[in-house]
Amino acid sequence: MYDLIIIGSGPAGYSAAIYAGRSMLSTLLITGSAPGGWAALTNDIENYPGFPEGIAGPELMERMRQQAERFGAEIIMDEVTRVNLGAHPFTVETYSDEYQAKAVVISTGVSQRMLGVPGETQLAGRGVSRCATCDGFFFRDKKIVVVGGGDSAVDEGIFLTRYAREVHIIHRRNRLRAQRAAQERAFQNPKISFIWDTAVTEIIGEDRVTGVKLKNLNTGEESLFDCDAVFIYIGATPNVELFRGQVDLDEFDYIVTCRNGHTSVPGVFAAGDVRETTLKQVVTAVSSGARAAMEAEKYIAALEDRAYPERELG
Ligand code: NAP
Repeated sequence: MYDLIIIGSGPAGYSAAIYAGRSMLSTLLITGSAPGGWAALTNDIENYPGFPEGIAGPELMERMRQQAERFGAEIIMDEVTRVNLGAHPFTVETYSDEYQAKAVVISTGVSQRMLGVPGETQLAGRGVSRCATCDGFFFRDKKIVVVGGGDSAVDEGIFLTRYAREVHIIHRRNRLRAQRAAQERAFQNPKISFIWDTAVTEIIGEDRVTGVKLKNLNTGEESLFDCDAVFIYIGATPNVELFRGQVDLDEFDYIVTCRNGHTSVPGVFAAGDVRETTLKQVVTAVSSGARAAMEAEKYIAALEDRAYPERELG
C-alpha cells in the first residue's frame, strides 16, 4: 500500500513525485511505455526557466527523474493495464503487478494524432515519423515534409533543417497556430518553405516514402509532391482510456479537474496535458504536478484525521 501512485512520467508526473517524496509520502511512479513522455522526445526546450541556452528534452526529463528518486519516490518502468478508482484504497494493475494507494495522480499526457490517410501506418518507421529527435538523423541531405501548423510542427521543422536539404511545412490553413517567435524563425530559415491551405491525402511509397499526394483545400486541385520523409505533428488526444467511466471527462476527452487538480473522484488528481488546460507547456505541467501532489497530501492527512502540515513550499 502506497500513499500515492502517480501514473505517467512526463513533467507533471515527475514534478508530482518530487513534491510527494519531499512531503514524505510513500510514492510510486509508474512510467508507462515512454518514460519522460512527450518532453523526452523534444530536442530543444528553449522556454523552460533556468536554462538560458535551452536544454535537450531527454536531459531535462532525466534530471527530473533523478530529482524524484532523490526525494524517495519509487519509479518503475511498467505499464498500467487497469485501475479501479471506484473503491478505496484505489487499485492500480500493471503488466507485472498490482498496487494499492490512498491517492492517485493521473499524468498520462496525450498521444499524437494520426492523419488517417493511406500509407501512414504502412510506412511508419520507413519515412513516416512523429519524432524528429529520434529519426531526423536518418534524413541527412534529404527532402522532408512536415504536416501541421502548431508549435510542434514549426519547432520540429526548424530542428529538422539541421539534417535535411529542404523542409516543406504543409498546413491546412494559411496561418500558423505556432507562437510568433517560432514562426519568425521558420520564415527566416532558408531551408524551410510552406505549402498553405493544403491537406496530405496519401503517403506514397513501396518500402519507403517517396512522396505525398496533396489536395489544395481552396481549389480542390490534387498534385503529387516528391519527398523522402513525412513528419506528422497535427496535435494530440488525451490518454484516458484507463479512466473512462471512472472520472469525468470533458467533450474533448480531457479529464475535468478543479484548479488544484481534483478530479470527480475524491483522492484522484490529474496533472499535465491529460487535464483540460489552455497552455500545454513543460512549465505548466510541472506546476500542476506539484499542486496535485500537495492536494494529495492534504487529502491523505484528512483521511487519517491528522492536521495538514502547513509549510512553506520550497
Ligand atoms: P496543436 O497546437 O493542436 O496544433 C496542431 C496543428 O495541426 C494545427 O495547426 C492544426 O491545424 C493541425 N491539424 C490538426 N488536425 C489536423 C489534421 N487532421 N490534418 C491536418 N492538420 C491538422 O498541436 P501541437 O503543435 O502538437 O502542440 C500541442 C500543444 O503543445 C500546444 O498547446 C502547443 O502550444 C504546445 N507546444 C508548445 C511548444 C513550445 O512552447 N515550444 C512546443 C510544442 C508544443 P489548425 O491550426 O487549422 O487547427
